[in-house]
Amino acid sequence: MKRIAFISEHASPLAALGGADAGGQNVYVGEVARQLSLKGYQIDIFTRREETALPRIVAFNDTIRIIHVDAGPAEDIPKETLLQYMPAFRDDMLYFIQTEQLSYELIHANFFMSALVAMELKSLLGIPFVVTFHALGHIRRIHQGDNDRFPKERIAIEERAVREASMIIAECPQDRDDLITYYHAPVDKISIIPCGVNTAEFYPIAKATARSLLGLPQHDCLLLQLGRMVPRKGVDNVIAALAKMHCERRKVRLLIVGGDADTTTELQRLQQLAAELDVKDRVLFAGQKSREELKYYYAAADLFITTPWYEPFGITPLEAMACGTPVIGSNVGGIKFSVAEGKTGALVPPQDADALAAKISSLLRSPATLEEMSANAIRRINKLFTWELVAQDIHTLYEKVTGNNTLYPDSFFSGQSIRL
Ligand code: UDP
Repeated sequence: MKRIAFISEHASPLAALGGADAGGQNVYVGEVARQLSLKGYQIDIFTRREETALPRIVAFNDTIRIIHVDAGPAEDIPKETLLQYMPAFRDDMLYFIQTEQLSYELIHANFFMSALVAMELKSLLGIPFVVTFHALGHIRRIHQGDNDRFPKERIAIEERAVREASMIIAECPQDRDDLITYYHAPVDKISIIPCGVNTAEFYPIAKATARSLLGLPQHDCLLLQLGRMVPRKGVDNVIAALAKMHCERRKVRLLIVGGDADTTTELQRLQQLAAELDVKDRVLFAGQKSREELKYYYAAADLFITTPWYEPFGITPLEAMACGTPVIGSNVGGIKFSVAEGKTGALVPPQDADALAAKISSLLRSPATLEEMSANAIRRINKLFTWELVAQDIHTLYEKVTGNNTLYPDSFFSGQSIRL
């Protein structure tokens, strides 16, 4: 049995998703751990205690434990302010490891603050680490400028992690290029391993069934936007595009899923925009939904729309495609990697409501194209983007780092061109 530690300081697989800080990373950590446990790994996931009532150890399954680490107040704190608690995180994690007399072959750090803890444990205990950054400080700075509230030390921590990690997981070619360009990461230290989707959770369901279960109109065109309600996701762009679509044969509605009490300001901004643009009656804010319900929302939609300013990967387009829903996404980051232009959907420039409106109109006018894209999308997901495939690559990477392999086969994606 191989014992490894995951660190995911702000993103627990147990958290409710769709608020300000809980999204793709939470899903990644839980799903990758689950798949690796099927391969014989024993995994401890270290994450910050966000509620006093949480027990120290929660069994996720027979071989995965979530370990709640005491670091800062036991309450929900914005991730931008967590760096100050990382020394406490390191100390409490170390205390746990020592009192339980654990030895890990490897640490898998997620996000830059976890990488900081991993670097310190490497020097104290000699455990090697791999890192998935999930997002990079440099890129955030470029897009968010002064609105980026992360401490300025973030970039130096990422640079150090690039030097000290045994291997770095880039989630898409753009992520790899950014690591090379902005962080001078050696190319042979990077392996491109994408995110995945759980096909037992997200699968095709007849549109009419999904709509009737959700009480949605059967005959209107439905666009779906789903995810965290933060400005960089560009939900305003989708509302603006809707306002530009006037002469459609069928009524076009936009369903927005996601958002909680932490994102009230953004939700209010979006609601106000819908009112100003006179599309309030065609936009439905459904709020945060449970994982079990999401497949019905994806399946009910004619098109899934996601137009962020930038996107390190973006799991929601995969979930939509797994449900057989074509995607129109920004031509950025992971989306231009997962969405096959013209085959499983379309790519548009971010923050360009005219281009988005034109693309939505042209696809809605061609049901045959949408049907073909739907079938292609399901095929593409099963071929390239399941968590089983992701975990196979991660397992291979771990074997390389721990020296357990004699032959290191190429990464699933290296040298392979991604096409249907
Ligand atoms: N999500 C959810 N409920 C919601 C909104 C979002 O479960 O109400 C999930 C969504 O299904 C996806 C994740 O949150 O699995 C978002 O991941 P993505 O990579 O698309 O974006 P990120 O949050 O990492 O920016």
